[in-house]
Amino acid sequence: MTPRPSRLVLLGHPVRHSLSPVFQNAALQHAGIPARYEALDVPLEALDGCVRALIAEGAAGNVTVPHKEAVAALCASRTPLAERAGAVNTFWVEAGALIGDNTDVAGFASLARQLLGGDAPPRDLTIAVLGAGGAAAAVLTAIEQWPNCTTILYNRTPARRDRLARRFATVVRGTADDPVRAVAGCGLVVNATSVGLADDVHPVPVEAIPRTAAVLDLVYRPGETAGVRAARARGLRAADGAGMLVEQGAAAFERWFGVPAPRDVMWNALAERLAS
Ligand code: NAP
Repeated sequence: MTPRPSRLVLLGHPVRHSLSPVFQNAALQHAGIPARYEALDVPLEALDGCVRALIAEGAAGNVTVPHKEAVAALCASRTPLAERAGAVNTFWVEAGALIGDNTDVAGFASLARQLLGGDAPPRDLTIAVLGAGGAAAAVLTAIEQWPNCTTILYNRTPARRDRLARRFATVVRGTADDPVRAVAGCGLVVNATSVGLADDVHPVPVEAIPRTAAVLDLVYRPGETAGVRAARARGLRAADGAGMLVEQGAAAFERWFGVPAPRDVMWNALAERLAS
């Protein structure tokens, strides 16, 4: 059996803003696991050497922007979801080999179920996906598993949008040149861009969103994002990315330790930090 990792890291650049250490350390302490979770700011040119050193010490962890695709390429093997998303956000070492997974997919699916209700995956929806980076790829990987759901894809940079649309031709029914066109007639809007992370800019004017639609914003920040607040004010069901953050972290915890993650403890630690 693979020994439990004694060191857990988050690889990114920058990572100072990340709240993953807050709720992962709360979970480790609650579970009585003698390990620490720390954020490592690793520039791209240092990533290869850093990952080799982590493999040698049998460490495990998460990956965030901009390293998810680069770490996927360094893995000896990837789970089918990580393979499909083309990105790794969770890794561990087995018999000296780096294994990569993508728990953003389950994190997004869980957030969608919480917002839309029901235990079964959402079905029969037209979904506007805004963004074409790693998060959008994880979102499309999840939607691909939902019965009779299709997406309209928008991204600021059309070439990147079109590349992603080709990779996910199974669920991308069309592309849009602006976000207003993308959300017309949809039942769910997903913001998978980083718009709204650092300011109160909306990814799409809220008046353009159909009154029956729900809004999932993968971005999270104290007091929620401006997009989520505006959607609620319009009477729409809306959630930010805090629930996804906890769920992808809980799924990662379960991969590393093989025991159920203390989701309530994780959520409370995150909520307390977001409120402070
Ligand atoms: P990424 O690969 O760097 O992609 C960033 C995306 O945002 C691209 O589509 C980019 O468009 C778009 N974008 C950035 N600035 C923009 C602007 N000013 N106007 C319009 N579009 C803009 O990042 P990612 O991994 O996909 O992450 C995207 C967001 O999701 C981040 O904010 C991240 O924090 C969040 N996220 C949250 C969770 C969670 O657990 N809640 C998990 C994963 C990601 P271009 O292609 O035109 O540059």
